[in-house]
Amino acid sequence: MVELIPSQENLMQILQRTGAFREGHFIYPNGKHSPHYFQMPLAFRYYDTARVLAVALSRKFRLEKDISSQLPKVSVISPSSGGIPVAFGVRDALNAEQIYWAEQELGERQFRQYVNQGEVNPCIIVDDIIRSGHAINETVKLVKSLGARIIGCGAIVRFESAPDEIEGVLIKSLIEFDVRMYESDQECTECKDGIQPEHVRF
Ligand SMILES: [Zn+2]
Repeated sequence: MVELIPSQENLMQILQRTGAFREGHFIYPNGKHSPHYFQMPLAFRYYDTARVLAVALSRKFRLEKDISSQLPKVSVISPSSGGIPVAFGVRDALNAEQIYWAEQELGERQFRQYVNQGEVNPCIIVDDIIRSGHAINETVKLVKSLGARIIGCGAIVRFESAPDEIEGVLIKSLIEFDVRMYESDQECTECKDGIQPEHVRF
């Protein structure tokens, strides 16, 4: 089953082809500069591509005994809107019973009203990209407050600088990316080279 997961090189080509991975000179809302930018929903706008990515990620989860033994009584949870297509794709491939996604409401990450204590199956948290791990950490807190156990966590892309485990669960990813990030324009290679920057949103 493992060999059915495309190589990191092939997956990066998919992200590049769909515009989800871009190279150039980018300035983030926090003022940092980078020669790389990921806009993952651009890969998920094509159903076939979305399917390839989600199925590949689901294969990594299926190999885990703690997950495969509990299916289908598992929930797949997205920390934000970007992870929703990942969650649906992974759910589909694993035939898991539940899907939840969190949203920022009143400055707090939460599920919709009337999701009650004890209703959430043991869960796999999935996102399209893990940059800092902040969204995942908040989702872990949310899930635990509802009494659910975390049995898996993963994303299509994980920055190498982000955490690689939560609550003793290793974070699975299809692409481990060593992102280059400059604190200011003085340190930025692309600024020195005089390349016109683009301002990007997270
Ligand atoms: Zn720059």
